[in-house]
Amino acid sequence: MAGTATPSNEQVHTVSLKVLVGKKNNKVLFAEAKKDFVDVLLSFLTLPLGTIARLVAKESNIKPVKVGSLSTLYESLSHLEEVHFRTKTCKEMLLQPRNSMESYCRQMKLNIDDTEPTQYFICDKWECSRKKNGSRLSIFRNQRCHCGDLLKMVITPENNISKEEGFVKKNATFIVFDDLYITPNVFGASVKNLFKKNGIDDMEDVKEETVLISKKEVVDLLKLSLVSNTPMTDFILKKEQCLYKFTPTKEYEFVIGEVSSDEVRQIVVKVQQRKSDGTFLFVEADEKFVDFLYSFLTLPLGGVLHMLEGFSSVSCLDKLYGSMTELSSEKYLSSQQGLKDKLANPKCAPLFNLSKQILPIVAESLPAFYCHPHKFPVISSYAGEIYAPLDIVDPKSPSGESSSSEGFVEGPAMFMVTDDLDVTPMSSISVVSYLNRLKVPLSDLEERVIKIGVKEGLRILKASLTSTYALSDALKDLIKITQEEN
Ligand SMILES: [Zn+2]
Repeated sequence: MAGTATPSNEQVHTVSLKVLVGKKNNKVLFAEAKKDFVDVLLSFLTLPLGTIARLVAKESNIKPVKVGSLSTLYESLSHLEEVHFRTKTCKEMLLQPRNSMESYCRQMKLNIDDTEPTQYFICDKWECSRKKNGSRLSIFRNQRCHCGDLLKMVITPENNISKEEGFVKKNATFIVFDDLYITPNVFGASVKNLFKKNGIDDMEDVKEETVLISKKEVVDLLKLSLVSNTPMTDFILKKEQCLYKFTPTKEYEFVIGEVSSDEVRQIVVKVQQRKSDGTFLFVEADEKFVDFLYSFLTLPLGGVLHMLEGFSSVSCLDKLYGSMTELSSEKYLSSQQGLKDKLANPKCAPLFNLSKQILPIVAESLPAFYCHPHKFPVISSYAGEIYAPLDIVDPKSPSGESSSSEGFVEGPAMFMVTDDLDVTPMSSISVVSYLNRLKVPLSDLEERVIKIGVKEGLRILKASLTSTYALSDALKDLIKITQEEN
């Protein structure tokens, strides 16, 4: 490549990838990838599940795909009226969840996350923003100052300029296998084994291909990573039939340690099932359970994989995650401190946490910010002697008070949740018509009260990634549900 030529538009927005294809079985053996492509794959781990559900529901080169029950959860959320949320911002937060590692992704050549980057807002009246106490700073739009005005002045904190550029070192090269397993580019045992496994003796049996990848292709790849065991082959050789025959791996069961007996963090729900044959019908639950389900959308994929100990049942996501944890930080990851730990266990974005979250995940915290008392508008995360501290507005709180981390959904309220996580406000009429549609007489209803703790919560989360029967899959041992399907 010529170093001095000005890159064309196509070069700026595409990444080229060299691929080795086995001729006999027409399969991608591996791709040789540089930083730009490996950054894209690793960025998948930072995307909140809600962002993933939103991105894969769009057309790209391949048709939209559904992710287990998450897609239904996301869609039913989009239809739920604003009155059911504690604030207007709550619904937006769930539909457009932020990425706690957005600063790493922003500079990437192919960043598919279309979520608006975090901005900082203060009141444009100087007297409001430089008070000794109680001046407000928001990282969401449409929040109010004490004076009643919107916090609408956009400001960049002085020492908050991020320099992160993706995840891996500039000159490192990698091999990416068909199942998205990433490994350093060494012609070693794994490549030789792969050749042997595919019956390849000499270079006559393979061909080299170069593919250009733009953002659209990255969305294709994200879709395939969720529904195929051979995403690179399906992606590069344009085999779409995988979308119809994907079967998640199910061999792994949770072994969860000492966490399940925390009474405080249990959510009580009512499961309605058929008395006659034990079929799962729906769950009746209050806002705490719905908050819990909606919080899935805010969880970064890598954080989910961490909680599931690397086994999500989506085999190539497990491979991608596992291979990342095996990469040498020092040799391959860009030099930021603790980057590998962050990628292995990304947190929710700031202010997206639930105070009563039953899952073992927390939100990234924001640094303290201060307003300069004489220069306006200057804010900084440096606490100079005379700087005035700013209160961070909680977008989930109707009064904007800071430091509460309550839920998204307004309570008290009751909801009906179907097996594929369709959430609707509870109404006797809708229950009756739902039962009519299923041809279930009222006399055949049986109600069971169960408690959802960490273990059940993780099971529901895991099932939501692959199953359209998330609740009955996750809870079947607990309530002896018989399943028609599996
Ligand atoms: Zn004000």
